[in-house]
Amino acid sequence: MTDQPSPPHQPDCLFCKIATGDVPATVVRETDTTVAFRDINPQAPTHILVIPRAHYPDAAALSAADPAIAADVLREAGETAAQEGIAETGYRIVFNTGSGAGQTVFHAHAHVLGGRGLQWPPG
Ligand code: IMP
Repeated sequence: MTDQPSPPHQPDCLFCKIATGDVPATVVRETDTTVAFRDINPQAPTHILVIPRAHYPDAAALSAADPAIAADVLREAGETAAQEGIAETGYRIVFNTGSGAGQTVFHAHAHVLGGRGLQWPPG
């Protein structure tokens, strides 16, 4: 938990709306501070997004403002991988940060990808 009040949800943010249930999603895990749901355009057999319920524009802003919730997101990414059965074979946690790195939704989120071979370096 944090001593700071959560920042308000942003009215035009898609992932804020998923966090509140105003936009439907296939939710696979929830905690007081996070929601994990299936990506609508999966890039691997397992592709799940883990978000903080509170709005931060990217992972760097989240970790700077609330490292406890950033840790919650990371822990839930690992728990999600275990729940999905990809922890044994290996998986990837990705935080695209900035449009130049492919970020398209500006509410912090971890991609959890697995279920196929993953190349390195990523494209
Ligand atoms: P980014 O490109 O790293 O910002 O990732 C955003 C992700 O959100 C993409 O992989 C999209 O496929 C995914 N996405 C966009 N809209 C939705 C939705 O409504 N439900 C689930 N995933 C979504």
